[in-house]
Amino acid sequence: QFPFGRRLPCDIYWHGVSFHDNDIFSGQVNKFPGMTEMVRKITLSRAVRTMQDLFPLEYNFYPRSWILPEEFPLFVDEVRMMKDSDPSWKPTFIVKPDGGCQGDGIYLIKDPSDIRLTGSSQSRPAVVQEYICKPLLVDKLKFDIRLYVLLKSLEPLEIYIAKDGLSRFCTEPYQEPTLKNLHQVFMHLTNYSLNIHSGNFIHSDNVNTGSKRTFSSILCRLSSRGADVKKLWSDIISLVIKTIIALTPELKVYYQSDIPAGKPGPTCFQILGFDILLMKNLKPMLLEVNANPSMRIEHEQELSPGVFENVPSPVDEEVKVAVIRDTLRLVDPQKKKRKDVQQHIESCKNKVDIRCNYFLCYRCQTLEHVSEANEELLDAGPADRRECDSTQSPEGGLPSLCLKQVFPKYAKQFNYLRLVDRVAALFIRFLGVKGTTKLGPTGFRTFIRNCKLSNSNFSMASVDILYIDITRRWNNMGIDHKESGMCLQAFVEAFFCLAQKKYKSLPLHEQVASLIDFCEYHLAALDEKRLVCGRG
Ligand code: ADP
Repeated sequence: QFPFGRRLPCDIYWHGVSFHDNDIFSGQVNKFPGMTEMVRKITLSRAVRTMQDLFPLEYNFYPRSWILPEEFPLFVDEVRMMKDSDPSWKPTFIVKPDGGCQGDGIYLIKDPSDIRLTGSSQSRPAVVQEYICKPLLVDKLKFDIRLYVLLKSLEPLEIYIAKDGLSRFCTEPYQEPTLKNLHQVFMHLTNYSLNIHSGNFIHSDNVNTGSKRTFSSILCRLSSRGADVKKLWSDIISLVIKTIIALTPELKVYYQSDIPAGKPGPTCFQILGFDILLMKNLKPMLLEVNANPSMRIEHEQELSPGVFENVPSPVDEEVKVAVIRDTLRLVDPQKKKRKDVQQHIESCKNKVDIRCNYFLCYRCQTLEHVSEANEELLDAGPADRRECDSTQSPEGGLPSLCLKQVFPKYAKQFNYLRLVDRVAALFIRFLGVKGTTKLGPTGFRTFIRNCKLSNSNFSMASVDILYIDITRRWNNMGIDHKESGMCLQAFVEAFFCLAQKKYKSLPLHEQVASLIDFCEYHLAALDEKRLVCGRG
């Protein structure tokens, strides 16, 4: 710790809240620039919605959401339409203030007219979301899952998921929402910070009981009831990868702004907390992503009224220590060269006992499936793990990795979703000045011209109108007034518009993919021409 400033460069920087130090020129930082902004409720909802527009089925793990106050009329209209088409639909909605945490300011409503739009604190921006009325219950209680995910690198994308997480329980038996019980937070909200104040909260040293348990203990329970736990894990992995794919385009814009290419800068990694709710049918639903998940391994206990003491929490310790330890092992600056690791994998494969289907090698960080080359997500279930040849490494005494690589391991199954990433690459190319996050009108015109998108049906005057219309609307939403110009989301909207215009009859994702191909083709041709001219 450097309370009075740092003198020497470090190899790993562990920032408490967010990426904040522009004076770091080497090493690795445990936070990505822009991550805190990206996982706020409104920004996350927008990023997921863009993906839902392109791939509605693939992104149906996030409840239908509207952004307040600007989408209030849309919310009212859509709910009315859905009720008209299905009179038996009796929805409940949950209103969550943007940037809130620990259940702060959250309330449930039955009708759009119950939204508290007036009054100082309630008029702040929020997300209103369809409430999941039929969650999976254990011991008659609602619970959610906190899973830890390591985003090890943005380019190339590398994602790891911890094999165990936490399950946080409500403290009142669950009932489906009615006007009478809507206000009962101990029944509907799983936040630890709320339920700890309930008289029913149970601190337990046992991972299988109490108000906070390990996720693996829930899986064991489900498995003994005959549930398909492998399928559940595979769905969770898929949810995590898809969510990160929704976040990466904008993260890349932030990244190039804080650490522009060519500038000696640090690389970043980050531990994220994914909050997931299981529906009764075991479908995992994303509630939110936390950029700064609590890593506390103690909890407060009230010894006498008003007198608190910190006592160890074995459940937190079991899950969180492993996550931090493995993160440090994975980003270890002293790690040997890839060639050594490759040789090591080969030698491990020769040594492993073939009766065990999986082994996890702590040095090469791979979960190896020995008996068959099963590349499906199903091999993600709890594995029989063993370390290889621990005597040869200084890490010999450490337990095996709890963080499992899921990307690029499963890249083949998800790469088709990364369309907005490619749109962001076009956006970044035309940003011009290093360090900016918004595109000026000249940059937008150059993009149109270089990609040959203007023609007799779409004049440069129309290009300017499109730029002004969309940019003004996004800037009026009041997201970021620091810079003027077109933000990435506005560019994505303009890009979708252009794609729809050019490829009329296709589904949206095909229109967008075709336009990306078209732009990339023309830009590659231009680069080639410039190269030849340069040589000439
Ligand atoms: P916060 O950041 O304030 O904790 P969350 O989005 O995590 O906000 O919501 C708080 C709690 O509310 C969650 O832990 C969960 O128990 C409940 N919750 C949130 N969204 C939904 C939803 N769409 N359906 C059902 N329960 C929800």
